[in-house]
Amino acid sequence: MRTEPLYLEDSYLRRCEARVLEVERVKGRRAYVVLDRTVFHPLGGGQPSDVGFIAGAGGRMEVRKALLLDGELKHWGVFAEGELGEGDEVVCEIDWGRRYAVMRLHTAGHILDYAMAVLFGRPVDTLEAFHGPPEAYLEYDAERPPDPALLEEVANEVVGADLPVVVKLVRREELPEHLYNAPNLRRLPAAEAYRVVEIPGANAMPCTGTHVRRTGEVGGVKVLRVEKRIGYRVYYTVT
Ligand SMILES: [Zn+2]
Repeated sequence: MRTEPLYLEDSYLRRCEARVLEVERVKGRRAYVVLDRTVFHPLGGGQPSDVGFIAGAGGRMEVRKALLLDGELKHWGVFAEGELGEGDEVVCEIDWGRRYAVMRLHTAGHILDYAMAVLFGRPVDTLEAFHGPPEAYLEYDAERPPDPALLEEVANEVVGADLPVVVKLVRREELPEHLYNAPNLRRLPAAEAYRVVEIPGANAMPCTGTHVRRTGEVGGVKVLRVEKRIGYRVYYTVT
């Protein structure tokens, strides 16, 4: 990937300067833009895409979605004014209110994974996950539905303890000793290094998402309902 993903280093970065590497016009005023660095987290890993804008001297694009396509991080959107060209120096900025809500939901998702491990006595794999609006959910490959009140109770103990959320890069050989209570390890893609997100004492798992710094920032975890799908889908929000 030609784009430096600044969101992996600092999830609180809302804005950065960048250079346009490529503009691919699609139709009318729509285009894909590739930058040398970005604060936009793309759709993936259970996390929705950021939205926001990219602006330079020549114009301004409203970014509707950031996507990983053909090994590139592409900002898809519409030119609201003028347009952008290759080599332009620009500023890109995400909708921070939306991103911060997603960060709280993603950390809450890891906390719910821990609560599931406590309830079932082992890490429970997820079949699907979505940590964003309009409704966040985790679908667990469990043999019975979790008790929503118990899940909430365990989750909110972790929130109340205001634990740090630690992010580190770990080489593949050292990965096993850094993980615990981690679901979905069987479908981990092969890589030289992994980004591990740890909530000390709760769990440590590979994850490329953006998280809050401490579990207290989640505020509170509310389980909205549990639905039988292929597994049991837990809809949740943060309060
Ligand atoms: Zn995650």
